[in-house]
Amino acid sequence: MHILLAEDDRIIADGLLRALRKSGYAVDHVSSGSDADAALLSQPFDLLILDLGLPRLNGIEVLRRLRARKSPLPVLILTAQDGLEERVRGLDAGADDYLTKPFALPELEARVRALTRRGTGNPTRIEFGPLTYDQAERSARLDGQPVDLSARELALLEILLLRAGRLVGKDQLVDHLCGWGEELSTNAIEVYVHRLRRKLEDSGVRINTVRGLGYCLDRPDGA
Ligand code: CA
Repeated sequence: MHILLAEDDRIIADGLLRALRKSGYAVDHVSSGSDADAALLSQPFDLLILDLGLPRLNGIEVLRRLRARKSPLPVLILTAQDGLEERVRGLDAGADDYLTKPFALPELEARVRALTRRGTGNPTRIEFGPLTYDQAERSARLDGQPVDLSARELALLEILLLRAGRLVGKDQLVDHLCGWGEELSTNAIEVYVHRLRRKLEDSGVRINTVRGLGYCLDRPDGA
């Protein structure tokens, strides 16, 4: 999977590059609209992550040019929190999905997975004893019944499931649950773990505390 990231904010771009590369994507980064347009003309990508507020050709114009060339490339736009109008213009110009800043990395990664999977296969489902987690929908079910989880609890469950049976450090959890500019203490992590544990209480799925280090999800059958 080859992603083009067009983002002029260095901090956001660096964080995204690190996270996406860690998830196994090849990512090229440009920091202006004209460079994005040139990159899109010069080689194929599987996904474009496009900030709308870009110098030297704004994101909307990059998107319009792309769609004018009849490119079906999936496009995820990044917009300011109060940018409703911008968001609507982006979707009208042919974006497939959007995220408002600031956003949490797990959410971005889930959108990226959903968009890059389109037309290529089935959504990823993780089955774990009585628990089913759908990465595309970002929803969890216990014995087929929906479990009501907050975004943070879902993100926590996701990382624990992806590393089931292995230790997940508290700092890894902070990384996974946090957006830029957000602070999350390890105490807050403990609160999320506590809540998630309560919601999974009767399922036999156990989140074990490895004292001082982190958490580990144990298989319900103890295997
Ligand atoms: Ca910008």
